[in-house]
Amino acid sequence: MHRKLSAPGWLLWFAASSCVAVAASGHPAHEPHVHGIAALNIVLENHDVHLTLESPAVNLLGFEHAPVTAEQKTAFHATRQILTRPPRLFALPGAGCQLVDSDIWMPEIHSHTDGDDGHDHHEEHADIHANYHFQCSRIAELNEIRIDLFAIFPGIQQIKAQWVTGRSQGTQLLTPAANRLKIK
Ligand SMILES: [Zn+2]
Repeated sequence: MHRKLSAPGWLLWFAASSCVAVAASGHPAHEPHVHGIAALNIVLENHDVHLTLESPAVNLLGFEHAPVTAEQKTAFHATRQILTRPPRLFALPGAGCQLVDSDIWMPEIHSHTDGDDGHDHHEEHADIHANYHFQCSRIAELNEIRIDLFAIFPGIQQIKAQWVTGRSQGTQLLTPAANRLKIK
């Protein structure tokens, strides 16, 4: 539950807003920023499952600027709390999986200070990234992953999922009506 970055909020916000520009320069596995669509990358390796969620912030928060009102700040913190509890977001049935590490990246709250240049961020976009690492005692029995994100975040309409194991790989478009990702 730690964040790797410790740069000032403004810098983080800027970095998030630059995702589209970064994509053009070949950021690995970076999905275009399309509202309503999120990307999920899953890697199964030995006893480990690595899940990476990447989503426009609007899908999870309802907005993409730094939170300003009390309501937005509450939504921001609530969303971060939900993201730190992956059992509510994903089900890995029958494989004895335990979360061992997670890393949530959200745009920092931008507070106005004396040095603020009055720059307006309302036209910009921002992404949220979350990485989860599970270890599974019976990973060979993992046949599907159920994605419960749709029920929690109605702003997510589709998830482009990509998975890879030591033996095979695949892609699947997930929706609220088809939220089971078949592995194998
Ligand atoms: Zn956007």
